[in-house]
Amino acid sequence: MSAPAPAPRDTETHGPRGIAILGSTGSIGVSALRVLARQRERYRVVALTANANADRLAEQAKAWQPAYVGLVSGPDGPATWHRGAEALVGAATHPDAAIVLNAVVGAAGLDATLAALEQGKRVALANKESLVMAGHLVAEAARRGGGEIVPVDSEHSAILQCLGARSGRDIRRLIITASGGPFRTWADERLRGAQLVDALQHPTWSMGRKITVDSATLANKALEVIEAHFLFGVAFDQIEVVVHPQSIVHSMVEFVDGSVVAQLGVPSMELPILYALTHPDRVADDGVPRFDPIAASPLTFEPVRHEAFPALQLGIAAGRAGGAAPAVFNAANEQAVALFLEGRMTFNDIAPCIDEALQRLSGIPGDSRDAILAADGAARTIVRERN
Ligand code: NAD
Ligand code: MG
Repeated sequence: MSAPAPAPRDTETHGPRGIAILGSTGSIGVSALRVLARQRERYRVVALTANANADRLAEQAKAWQPAYVGLVSGPDGPATWHRGAEALVGAATHPDAAIVLNAVVGAAGLDATLAALEQGKRVALANKESLVMAGHLVAEAARRGGGEIVPVDSEHSAILQCLGARSGRDIRRLIITASGGPFRTWADERLRGAQLVDALQHPTWSMGRKITVDSATLANKALEVIEAHFLFGVAFDQIEVVVHPQSIVHSMVEFVDGSVVAQLGVPSMELPILYALTHPDRVADDGVPRFDPIAASPLTFEPVRHEAFPALQLGIAAGRAGGAAPAVFNAANEQAVALFLEGRMTFNDIAPCIDEALQRLSGIPGDSRDAILAADGAARTIVRERN
């Protein structure tokens, strides 16, 4: 019996694959367009959306001429633009989009993730919040619609690359690295006086404000542990977090035979963005800075200071609890970070707010979109009222 012929490459059969970019005006969205400018034979932009930055969206629309442009809030922009939160789902389900890069920040990305998967599309997922809050629903949507999620988050991209063709059964442990954030070395007393400007100084990554604060509290790492649990089907007991201040080793997989495989590279999101589009293939790209092991040295690892950064364990406990708890964790965190960014909450109040929301809303089921959004809303109310 002869082997089946290899599937033809899209570029040979249908021309460039269509991509919808949700959140195109943000940090990931702008990086993605930089990557796509180097890959024009393979990909074309068919949809762009933003929340409120009409000027940047207009520039991008002029440069890329997508068929669909969506601006979620604000009255600005041409009459042909799509409006409101529906514009995210409209872009995510656009018939010319084979791939949806969801680079929206926060729970606002949920419906687009679900809708794209239901339509059998590849979701290149930066919006980890949608997977954290509704992991089971996202998995069901993918199963029903035949869609797939490929992570953009650098740690999960690393794990995917370390796994290669191995199945989840071969994994003994995932070791997720964390930079430790700007407060990694701050003594407890100094940490009590942490200010917004300090929290926004990330040592190794330049990102949007919300994820930058999440990296300072380590809530981001909790979101990533839950994200890894759902993406790779690995139990929470098999996921470990280690601080690696240089952000060169993006994560590691320990296999059942004890071998540990790591993925390394300079901290740039352009590689994981590109890989989420090309996986399992690799394509040549000269845009990512070359890795120099001598310049990157030394590579060090240290334990997490859990007492100083309680949001990490709160989030992992929520992941273990299941039901709506991850959605409560996510929503309480989003609301607390929003208040912190507005100067209406201190850094050290973020974790206690999350804790209170989790305690008051424990045991809520999360078996439907409505149940999850209700839990999300209740968590936000608790945080606002506590403040
Ligand atoms: P950002 O704040 O820079 O950009 C967010 C984008 O989403 C913007 O285009 C904004 O217009 C849009 N947006 C915001 N709120 C919206 C809403 N309610 N409805 C519709 N659109 C909305 O954020 P970012 O740093 O690019 O992060 C985006 C996502 O990627 C987050 O989930 C983050 O955790 C994840 N991520 C980011 C990085 C990074 O390096 N920036 C790395 C890993 C993961
Ligand atoms: Mg990450």
